[in-house]
Amino acid sequence: MSYILPLWTPPSLVISARSDLFPVRRVHCVAKNYDDHIREMGGDPKKVKPKFFSKSAHAVVSGTDKVSVEYPRATSNLHYEVELVVALGKDAEIFGYGIGIDFTKRDLQNIAKEGGMPWDTAKNFTGAAAVSQITSIADCNEILEGEITLSVNGEMKQKGDLSQMIYNVKEIMQHLDGYDELLPGDIIFTGTPAGVGAVVKGDVMDCTLKGLPDFQVSLV
Ligand code: MN
Repeated sequence: MSYILPLWTPPSLVISARSDLFPVRRVHCVAKNYDDHIREMGGDPKKVKPKFFSKSAHAVVSGTDKVSVEYPRATSNLHYEVELVVALGKDAEIFGYGIGIDFTKRDLQNIAKEGGMPWDTAKNFTGAAAVSQITSIADCNEILEGEITLSVNGEMKQKGDLSQMIYNVKEIMQHLDGYDELLPGDIIFTGTPAGVGAVVKGDVMDCTLKGLPDFQVSLV
């Protein structure tokens, strides 16, 4: 069997201390998962059921500890959302963890929300999923709590703790698998704490998550 186009290399993530790459199959995202972020967006955390959206694997931009993301088209209100990213390996079990930025064209998302329309143009574009190197669970143990932060040009903007997540990683995986079988190579963005905001070309975002190597994303 041959193809009419040259095959492309699968999007992939660097794995800490290993030369092998993690191939990305699908990118699942939790829409709202932290109490304070839901309040800042005008919601009531007690009424929230987990809601999901997805990005193409080709939205992933990855690197070891620093990556550059091109400021995307068709927005003048690009927001950062720092998140714990879970990478699923063999048998769709947790392979490891990384730090990600779920970039969002908030202007387009607000239009979509007002019209009851899909979020795809706001959430799924080249560079929309910046992901750090993945640390294998064998090297860092299970991550259930700990500080997660994002600063912009050295100023702290987001500071939360994974223990504030309404649905933990295992619960998120159970919900997702209930809709469609989770598969090896899937990655999950697990939601963002409060403090989201706009960034512009030239801004540098420094992300930290307790137990993982730091991650820096530059908008170019
Ligand atoms: Mn998000």
